[in-house]
Amino acid sequence: MQLRIGNGYDVHRFAETEEPCASITIGGVSIASKRRLLAHSDGDVLVHALCDALLGALALGDIGRHFPDTDPQYRGIRSLLLLQLVMKQVRDLGWDMVNADITLVAQEPRFAPHELAIRQSLATTLGVEIDQISVKATTTEGLGFAGRKEGIACQAVALLQRQARA
Ligand code: MG
Repeated sequence: MQLRIGNGYDVHRFAETEEPCASITIGGVSIASKRRLLAHSDGDVLVHALCDALLGALALGDIGRHFPDTDPQYRGIRSLLLLQLVMKQVRDLGWDMVNADITLVAQEPRFAPHELAIRQSLATTLGVEIDQISVKATTTEGLGFAGRKEGIACQAVALLQRQARA
């Protein structure tokens, strides 16, 4: 069996000001938050890290190379759509995803109540089973930019295996 592993990391910064009905999109799931995440797209830091892990496993560069943020067609785009395109490319090249393990790093909001919905959203988008997707979240005990609530980081690891030949 041929295996490839990829790693992805992304950070998005919170807006300076709080808004009464702000939300952020994480793994395609809308989550209430005091402040929005600043981004060219929907700011889905988790999906961006996962895209980079999938691309990285096949040495295909990064999400910025495939979907440049200078290109107006990607302005405000749903990141799940980008993930779908990345996964299609992975499959077209003859690979399937074995599993992905994803860690969100943020002081707030709390992601634990949303982890199941995020895993389901990713599994549906990727066309895999929910038990192939792990989503965890950690704080940094108040340390660093995440601890100061300046932004959210996400780290993702994805394992791919060669498709069985018919
Ligand atoms: Mg990003």
